[in-house]
Amino acid sequence: MFEIWKYGDIICARGSRTMPWNRSSKMHVYYYLIDNLLIDTGPFSLKEQAVKFFDTNPIEQVFLTHIHEDHAGMAYWLQENKKVPIYLHPCSIEHASLEPELKQYRLEIWGKRQKFEAEPVPDTMNTSRYTFQVIDSPGHCRHHKILYEERKGWLFSGDLITTLKPKSVFCEENMTELIRSIKKILTLNFHTVFCPHTGILENGRELFGQKLNYLLQLQKQVRNLRYEGFSDREIDQQLFPGPDPVTQLTEGEFSSYFIVNTL
Ligand SMILES: [Zn+2]
Repeated sequence: MFEIWKYGDIICARGSRTMPWNRSSKMHVYYYLIDNLLIDTGPFSLKEQAVKFFDTNPIEQVFLTHIHEDHAGMAYWLQENKKVPIYLHPCSIEHASLEPELKQYRLEIWGKRQKFEAEPVPDTMNTSRYTFQVIDSPGHCRHHKILYEERKGWLFSGDLITTLKPKSVFCEENMTELIRSIKKILTLNFHTVFCPHTGILENGRELFGQKLNYLLQLQKQVRNLRYEGFSDREIDQQLFPGPDPVTQLTEGEFSSYFIVNTL
C-alpha cells in the first residue's frame, strides 16, 4: 500500500514495512516533496512504489536529514536516474560514498543503502516558493540536520520525534545531545512537524515539549541513582526491568541501556 496526497503545497507519500519479528506491526515511511525538493528518499526496500512516485513528480534536489538506510536508501537511485544533487551533513559525505555493512534485521526491513556522492548541505535551502533554514540537530545520530521554514512554521524533523517516550534506542543515539537539540528547536517559531515515520503532526510543538519533559525526568532519575552509587547497568535494570525482546531481535543495536548511558 503506497499512498500519495497533497497537504497544501506539499506532495506527500507513504509506504510501509512489516516488522520481521511481528507481522502485525508496521513502520511507515513518509516522503515530502515541496517545489521539486525531496526531503529524505525512503528505503531501498520500498523501491518499486517509490520509483513510481519519483517518476510522476518532478524532483530537482534532494535533502537528507541523515545517512540511515531508511532515509538515504534511494539516494543512489535518484542520483543515477534523475541526476539530481543530494545534500547531506558535511561530516556524512565520506560515509555516503561507501556502502555500509548492515545487520540482517535492517536489510530485511529497509534493504541496502548503496553508495552515492553527496554534496555538503548549505545553511539554507531554497525552492521557488520557500526558504528552509538547515538546523544542526544531533541526538538521534551524531550528524543529523533538519529543515525549518519560518514563514510557514514548518519543521521537517528527521528522526528526532519518531518515538515520544522511547524505552529502547539505537546504539548511535545520544539522549543528552537530543535534549540539547530539542531545547534549541523549541526556540524556533514552528507548529507543524513533518516526521518521516509518524507523518504530519499539527501539534508538533506540544509533542516536542512532551518528549523533552520525558527525557528530562529520566535524566533526573538516572543522575540521582548514579549519585547514590548505582552503575549504569544497575540503573538500566531498575528503570527498564525485564528482558527487552527488541534488543535480541536487533542483535543488541537497540537497548534501554543506551538511554541510561547517554543521559
Ligand atoms: Zn535514523
